[in-house]
Amino acid sequence: MSLADELYRETILDHYHNPRNHGTIESPDAKIEGVNPLCGDELTLYLSMEDGKIKDVKLEAKGCSINTASGSMMTEAVLGKSIDEANKIIGTFKEMMLAKGNDTVELDLPEDLEDLEALQGVKKYPVRIKCALLPWNTLIEGIETVEGKR
Ligand code: ZN
Repeated sequence: MSLADELYRETILDHYHNPRNHGTIESPDAKIEGVNPLCGDELTLYLSMEDGKIKDVKLEAKGCSINTASGSMMTEAVLGKSIDEANKIIGTFKEMMLAKGNDTVELDLPEDLEDLEALQGVKKYPVRIKCALLPWNTLIEGIETVEGKR
């Protein structure tokens, strides 16, 4: 197993076994459900905003390891960020996951977000890309909901 594969496995398993920001928020600004019927992943995203920033984000996920790990990393990546910053991270992540081929995309990510790069390993298994993207697409809906309420 290559070093990249090992990093991929370890990082994913760590987030899968200890998902960050797992749970619910009482009276959130947005509560969105996401489903990936291909795999059976289901999740509920809770979003709470304050002064234009993501004050709290929580996920309740019943999904596969990729789905749970990706959601866990996502909550860490966007917590405390402004909507613009969060949209930028979402855009970079989707670009990375949807880039054609097995080319590793060099991401301009701050050090605390480097775990996200491990998810590029998922690209070897195209059916799992949807699992990795589900939490992020649900977050986009959540942000749109919050923005619609402004
Ligand atoms: Zn899945």
